[in-house]
Formats: sequence, C-alpha cells, structure tokens
Amino acid sequence: MIYDTIIIGAGMSGLAAGIRLAQQDRKVAIVEKHYVWGGLNSFYGKDGYRFDVGLHALTNFVPKGTRGMPLTRTIKQLRLRYDDFALGEHGHSEILFPGARLEFTNNFELLTEEVARVFPGELDRFRALVREIEETVWDTRAPEFFSAREELAKRLREPLLIEMLLLPTCYYGSAMEDDVEWDQFKVLFSSIFLEGLARPEGGVRTILNLLVKRFRKVGGELRMKNGVERIQLDSDSRVCGVVLEDGTELETRAVISSAGLVESLELCGAPTAKQELEPADRGRLTFLESISVLDCTPASLGYTAATSFFSSQSRFDYRPPAELCDYRSGLLSSPNNFAAKKPMTDQLLRMTVLANGPAWESLSPEEYAAEKKLQAASAEAALVEFTDSEALPGGPRQSWDSHTVYRDVFTPNTIRRFTGHPGGIVYGSPRKRKQGESGIDGLALCGTDHGYLGIVGAMASGCIIANEQLLSPVTS
Ligand SMILES: Cc1cc2nc3c(=O)[nH]c(=O)nc-3n(C[C@H](O)[C@H](O)[C@H](O)COP(=O)(O)OP(=O)(O)OC[C@H]3O[C@@H](n4cnc5c(N)ncnc54)[C@H](O)[C@@H]3O)c2cc1C
Repeated sequence: MIYDTIIIGAGMSGLAAGIRLAQQDRKVAIVEKHYVWGGLNSFYGKDGYRFDVGLHALTNFVPKGTRGMPLTRTIKQLRLRYDDFALGEHGHSEILFPGARLEFTNNFELLTEEVARVFPGELDRFRALVREIEETVWDTRAPEFFSAREELAKRLREPLLIEMLLLPTCYYGSAMEDDVEWDQFKVLFSSIFLEGLARPEGGVRTILNLLVKRFRKVGGELRMKNGVERIQLDSDSRVCGVVLEDGTELETRAVISSAGLVESLELCGAPTAKQELEPADRGRLTFLESISVLDCTPASLGYTAATSFFSSQSRFDYRPPAELCDYRSGLLSSPNNFAAKKPMTDQLLRMTVLANGPAWESLSPEEYAAEKKLQAASAEAALVEFTDSEALPGGPRQSWDSHTVYRDVFTPNTIRRFTGHPGGIVYGSPRKRKQGESGIDGLALCGTDHGYLGIVGAMASGCIIANEQLLSPVTS
C-alpha cells in the first residue's frame, strides 16, 4: 500500500495536517515516536497529579463567531466546534520591568491606556505601530529576515517600552537570540495582545482529544511509538518512503514533517543535511520550567495575573545563559487565573526561565537530580526578590515555597527526551521556512520551522501545508 502522505509527529501541527488531508479522502498516516500525542504541548500524570507539558495560555483567542481570524478559521477548517475548546479568558496579564508595569486583558484598549499612562510621550507612535501591525497582509510574509529590535527602534523612542513589548513575543515564540524576526514579532503581537489569551478548561488534553478523535473519525491512521529513523529518497532524490525505528518500511508519495528542519534533513541522510544546513539554521533556545502545586490560591500570595512576563533588568537577555539557567527574566503563569465554569482541582504556579541545553546534558544523573531542585528554587527566589516590594507597581508578591505541596521540574533534557529536539530546543531554527520548503522534493515542513508557533499557530500551519498538498493532484 502506498500512502498519499505520511506525517511525522502527532503534535498540534501534525494532527491538524492529518485531519485536513484525511477529511479530503487522502490516505494518510501520522507516525509519532512517543507513546502520547501532543509533542511540545502534551500532558502527563505524576504522583496522582495531572500536568500539561507546555500550556501557559492559548494565544490568538477571539470570541465565537469572529470571522477570518486564525483561531476561528482553523477550527472551521478542521470541522471542529468552537464550544468544545471550552476556552476561558484570562482575567488580566502583565509585563513587569524595574519600576514599570503594563497590564493587559483581551480588551486591547487597556494596553493602549497603560502605554499612555506609563509612556505618555509614546502614545501616537504606539498607535501607529499597532495600525501597521493590523494592516499587515500575512499571506505575503517577506522571505528576508528583519530584526524586530531594529524595526521597533525606528518606530518608538522609549527603549523600555521596546523591551516591554519584545519580552512577551520572545518568550512566546522567538527562535532568534536577543531578538524576534520582524514578521514573527507582528504575528506574536497580534496573537497575544490584539487577539488574546485563554485557557481550555481541562488543559491541553481538551484540545488534543478533539484533534485525535477527529483524525480517527475521518479515517486517518495514527501510529504511536512509531519513530521514523529515515526518510527514503528515490534515484531522483524525491521522497518515496520512510523507515521506522523497528525496521518497517512505509511507501508514500509525500512526507510532511513537524520534527523540525534540522531534524528532518538529518532523517534524509547526513550528506543532504550537511549540504543544506548552515550554523544559523540551528536554534539553541530552551527553557527550564517548574510546576508548583500550592495549598492556597496564587491570588492569595499576590499572584493575580494569569501570566506575568518579567525582567528584573531594564534590558533583558534572551539567549542561552552560560550557567544552567538565567533567572533574570521569564514568565510566571497561573492557570487558576483564567475564567472557568468549574474551578480547577489544583492550585498551580508555572515558572519558565531560559536554560542552557548542553550544560544540562553534561550533568551526571546525581548532579541532574540535585540541580533540578536547586535551579527551580533559585529561580523562584530571584523572582520573589524582584517582586516582593511595596514599590513594585501591582503590589508585593510572596514566596510560594512554603505553600508548595508538590513540585515537578522539567529541563531541556526532558524536552529532548520527549520530542527528539536536540538540546531540547523549543522554538526550532532561527531561519524559518515560510513556505514550508525543505529543499527536498516531496518533503514539506509544518509547525515550528514553518514559522508558526503556539497551539493555534501550529494547527494553522498544519492546515496551510495540507491545503497546499490538496491542490496538487494525487498521482498513482
Ligand atoms: C515549556 C513550553 C511552554 C509552552 N507554552 C505554550 C503556551 O502556553 N501556549 C502555546 O500556544 N504554545 C506554547 N508552547 C509552544 C507550543 O507547544 C509549540 O509551538 C507547539 O506545540 C509546536 O507544535 P508542533 O506540532 O510544531 O511541534 P511539536 O510539538 O514539537 O511536535 C513534533 C512531534 O514530532 C515528533 N517527532 C519528532 N521526531 C520524530 C521522528 N523521527 N519520528 C516520529 N515522530 C517524531 C515528536 O515526538 C513530537 O510529538 C510551549 C512550549 C514549551 C516547550
């Protein structure tokens, strides 16, 4: 049997691509090396607790019925029901820098008012920037790469405002160090501020269950614990099949891969990978994340925001630190501060800071276990030192250490183990392939290295790449 398409990876993008193709009667299989779906946005159980791997917030939130926006367009393409996503909006979120705080909600006017309050001289320039972002035509994303830091400096005068706008966009999806690619900045600004943040009730399982159920219903084949060891090319260097880790060979007319640019080219064979890749293609950004289960609500300790993007320096570094972690900036997320019909059973705080993948990989098992605890505790202490002050706009926040009844920590090693991304990199290659092109006939990229990140971005990418395949006729 020959598949029309084999999709590598049952993350958000692979599942969405699979649904689009299968519902048009294409013979399609998703092959996933892990035993659970979701990729970077999966879920797990540990010691009686149920955790999400990556979920802080779903970006791109728009209300039901909003036309032509990434969330509603994607849901429509996948023939799912908006209500089944069970989205609860964030009460508010914030960006915290020394002496400055910007609060925002899903009503964009609040952010404009906050900019007017904190940076009164910047209001007109900020409004002009927002207009420019709103008028961007996404389908014609430029193939060249521009620096958002440089582009913002042409449009705004206050360096602190530039930092405050860059930080959330970096942490929510930049593969570039100390910067965001300009198109990507505009996409992320839209998805966080102009559209908005929400959380699916029940966590990421809610969305993943919908995708898996739909894929199977429309006849897709989901092969779990089926890692791809090699993508096979024919004598014309065109994709003709995949070889699984257990040696099984599957024939196919095309492959869509969500494994990443570098990873996918390496699956095609070392010589190809060498020819195609430059050092600039290899990303390095990765994170340490701690999830603390509390004996009280985060709000009772002063954490009322759903998401706090913070930096204790007026210019933040966004690059792998020399040490294991960099606690000076990051984000803190409280799932309890999103609207929900039923209150969550657990009270949680999730903290994310930058990490150094190779440094984590070099630890012995004993060092690794000790450092996980130490780094998570140090990150919390550094944040509390920055925020536990009457002078901080938004009020003081207290340590949650003595209120923590359970804590799980994951590191770049965990990310590498569960997704196969070398060094545990999260946002893939800094040079995105904006048409999904891999340079190999019959191999398209979807998801992270197509340049669409986050839950909605990854699902949208899967739809876009699948739609392109649907336009090309099936040849027998
Ligand atoms: C800590 C963290 C927090 C995040 N927070 C958020 C958030 O709050 N909101 C949000 O919207 N996004 C968030 N993200 C980002 C989001 O998770 C990703 O952008 C998105 O899930 C990427 O989906 P994807 O399908 O492109 O790739 P992936 O999720 O990486 O999926 C790729 C899949 O391919 C599989 N695979 C790889 N190689 C092979 C192989 N050889 N054979 C078979 N299978 C293979 C992997 O196992 C994986 O399942 C977060 C990510 C992380 C790590």
